[in-house]
Amino acid sequence: MKAILVEQPGGPEALRLADLPIPRPGPQQVRIRVEAAGLNFADILYVAGEYLTRTRYPTVPGMEFAGVIEELGEGVKGLRVGQRVAALGSGAFAEYALASAQAVFAVPPQWSAAEAAAFPVSYLTAFFALVVQGRAQPGEWVLIQAAAGALGTAAIQVARALGLRVVALASREEKLELCRRLGAEVALLSTQENLVEAVKEATGGHGVDLLMEVVGGDGFAQSLRMLAYRGRLLVIGSASRSLAQMHPVALMKGNQSVIGVWLTPFLSDPKAMREATEFLSPQLASGQLRPIVGERFPLEEAARAFEFILSRRNTGKVILEP
Ligand code: NDP
Repeated sequence: MKAILVEQPGGPEALRLADLPIPRPGPQQVRIRVEAAGLNFADILYVAGEYLTRTRYPTVPGMEFAGVIEELGEGVKGLRVGQRVAALGSGAFAEYALASAQAVFAVPPQWSAAEAAAFPVSYLTAFFALVVQGRAQPGEWVLIQAAAGALGTAAIQVARALGLRVVALASREEKLELCRRLGAEVALLSTQENLVEAVKEATGGHGVDLLMEVVGGDGFAQSLRMLAYRGRLLVIGSASRSLAQMHPVALMKGNQSVIGVWLTPFLSDPKAMREATEFLSPQLASGQLRPIVGERFPLEEAARAFEFILSRRNTGKVILEP
């Protein structure tokens, strides 16, 4: 089968097309014929050897995908061959990939494969960030960074479904237009001068109750200054790939919190996953939540897709198609 192979840490240049054996599912696993794979910022960090888990080379990257179940491993129940699903797993930048049966998700039949592939990482992360870690309450203000990206567009939709008021930040005017269309009440260029003051003014002097931090680095201190009294800053990513510094004592005056969010451990927490499914399923069925698919690239052009995200031109989820 065709697959993207990475033999050593690097950027887009480390990706090469290879011919590999089709994987066989182990116990409690399924093999899926991949129709579309989501390209996440985490894949870029994973290929570079900068992700939260250690990368073991050689590796086939790709963690989320959609397609048709082709083979069930020993002990798999409740799934059938021929079923079209979305999944989290590994080695998704290939024609076939494996997923653990508990990380396979039913998706609305009217969704395209690209929409299905764009769903699991972004929507689950948005839910765990806002509801579980952030304890969002209806009427609160949330600021979403990189709001036109994959996680950002999912987070705007989830925030609106929770009754939150959204301040969206993005680096280009056309991205802000998308954020407004999705229901952001305020949309500001992340590069504008006096951003802290602009956010304060847009929220009637209040500041934001929740802030989804995905850029990190020098901007982190600025994010802290945008928080309302008892505001919660959710540390979800560090796209700047540089260190942020803070003085924890600064949190005391406003009774504020800095909270980490990582999707992976939640995936093996049945109670948390049940909670997520109960919230997301009806919203997906009603169409209130629907993934935004951005640029689509053939699998062979994975390097170009990586470069596209690194150049910050993407909106919604970038998709690779075998
Ligand atoms: P996106 O589709 O949002 O693409 C990345 C976006 O980040 C860019 O479009 C850009 O938007 C913004 N960005 C800011 N600074 C940079 C930079 N220096 N280089 C490149 N992009 C930059 O990607 P994802 O939805 O996959 O991920 C978004 C963030 O959320 C990442 O930091 C990722 O690691 C994190 N994440 C964390 C998860 C978790 O479990 N903790 C799960 C999922 C995502 P703009 O130009 O508008 O600023």
